[in-house]
Amino acid sequence: MNDRIAKKRELMTVAKRCFERGLQTGTGGNLSIRCTDRNLVVIKPSGVGFFECDEDNLLVVALDGTIVEGSAKPSKDMPFHLGIYRVREDVGGIVHVHSPWATAWASTNQEIPCMTVHARAKLARIPVIPCGPGRGNQDPEAIVAAYRDPKLRAMILEDHGSVGVGKTILAAQHVVELIEETAQVAAVARMVSGRVGAAAAAD
Ligand SMILES: [Zn+2]
Repeated sequence: MNDRIAKKRELMTVAKRCFERGLQTGTGGNLSIRCTDRNLVVIKPSGVGFFECDEDNLLVVALDGTIVEGSAKPSKDMPFHLGIYRVREDVGGIVHVHSPWATAWASTNQEIPCMTVHARAKLARIPVIPCGPGRGNQDPEAIVAAYRDPKLRAMILEDHGSVGVGKTILAAQHVVELIEETAQVAAVARMVSGRVGAAAAAD
């Protein structure tokens, strides 16, 4: 099979999995996969839902931003995808979603604490990238600068969502799933410890 078709199908499988797990609704978020030709990526365009990705609407783009295949409108997040691939040779897939627990935590502009053994082992840290000017979307350069750290796999974007990277697009999806789980665990742990603290104070 043609490599581009194989990579499109790999992306479509992961996109559907994200949708089915509730990590992304509507047409928000985006995801991409690096081709065997390391200078090319397949990426979801703007205005297409994760569940609606197909071989005809996905874009094939060179790392310098040149559209190689496809006529859909590129996502405004495409620059940070391409930038991460340029600085991280080890990255083969990127998943960006607006999942609710991670995005709620990101709205506090605080790093998500890795409270579980699994999150510490897999992610170590989930830093937060502040909003861009006028509380708009993050400057793509700020996202790429953080990912210059060769160990970083996960981040959240203030008032926006999360970004996970991996050797494969499935590994990147596992990262955003774990970010979402970790945000939920941290939020509930704070709620419970607040109640436990309140109960102890009342005794
Ligand atoms: Zn987004």
